[in-house]
Amino acid sequence: MTTTRPAIQMVDLKGQYLKIKKEVDSALMEVLDSCAYINGPKVNEFQSNLEQYLGAKHVIPCANGTDALQIALMALGLKPGDEVIVPAFTYVATAEVIALLELRPVMIDVDPHTFNITADLIEPMISAKTKAIVPVNLFGQSCDMEPIMKLAQKHKLFVVEDNAQAIGADYHLQDGSQQKTGCIGHIGCTSFYPSKNLGAYGDGGALYTNDDELAKKCRMIANHGQTKRYYHDMVGVNSRLDSIQAAILNVKLAHLDEYAAARQKAAAYYDKAFAEISQLQIPARQHNSSHVFHQYTLIVKDGRRDELQAYLQEKGIPNMIYYPVPLYEQEAYKDSMDQKITKLEVTDYLCRTVISLPMHTELDEETLAYICDGVKGFFAD
Ligand SMILES: *Cc1c(COP(=O)(O)O)cnc(C)c1O
Repeated sequence: MTTTRPAIQMVDLKGQYLKIKKEVDSALMEVLDSCAYINGPKVNEFQSNLEQYLGAKHVIPCANGTDALQIALMALGLKPGDEVIVPAFTYVATAEVIALLELRPVMIDVDPHTFNITADLIEPMISAKTKAIVPVNLFGQSCDMEPIMKLAQKHKLFVVEDNAQAIGADYHLQDGSQQKTGCIGHIGCTSFYPSKNLGAYGDGGALYTNDDELAKKCRMIANHGQTKRYYHDMVGVNSRLDSIQAAILNVKLAHLDEYAAARQKAAAYYDKAFAEISQLQIPARQHNSSHVFHQYTLIVKDGRRDELQAYLQEKGIPNMIYYPVPLYEQEAYKDSMDQKITKLEVTDYLCRTVISLPMHTELDEETLAYICDGVKGFFAD
């Protein structure tokens, strides 16, 4: 490519780091000086900062988002064969931990506009064996949680929110109050994978809950099933957030709202540019959730998604397909379904039509204009 413009990136971690370099570097040096690498004061500090930010009674830091989901499910005391309802349109981790615990993932279809599961889609899939629901707040906005919680209450089901992509978003309840996403279900799980909205510089994750009993259990499970050292009351795992990552996350948490605003600004720019392109569907907003745009995901309605992808690639415009294959078609999960589902219409459609554009905190107008011109150029041909 013969251009002087720096390469456009899907996620610009370097640009974001340079702006907070001083803060991050000195926080890191503090950890190095302290030698408190495991469960040091930075981890406790981050735990209480995140509790405060989310308005959650308990935050339990752990090693990554997948572990958070696994620990949450382990804390519910489910039995092999119990069913857990999950969206078929999500990242594999959501279903993976269910299968790993010998529970049965029941994959259901999603709403074609928000890409999230809804109470209406969940209800017909509830059986006598159903014990939990794992709604995924996909791409950065909450599921419509209140009707889901009502349904869960009616059928005595646990709700574990996979909030790996929507940390920082607000859910507006019917009574006029608002809560951070992930704090409405019994347990919320999040990931601090570097490209996530609150990303560490390595792996990290957390669970959050307002339930004292569940919090205690999750904390125990994450720590080899012990409350007292060398006394193990239950089978657990080893899942810790390390002090270096906690130090970085402390710095970045203070910027999270400003990062969300930068993403929203980029999304608004995209929306405006693509609103008149009849072949594209811009991201719908869940009416009672803010959107923190972990991804900006378009639907290409004219069947030319793959062509658009190749065209953008050639123009140096990175893009990704989240997600190309429905979970129930994945080799590993083909047989995990009870009723032999051959196809979920919306999930199948989305896997064939979605495309995600560059989305991060460092997108300037010049870059956005170049990306938008690229997309428009394709449809103008
Ligand atoms: C990233 C992600 C996870 C897993 O997080 P890790 O930290 O990579 O283990 C789980 N669910 C969803 C929806 C994710 O996007």
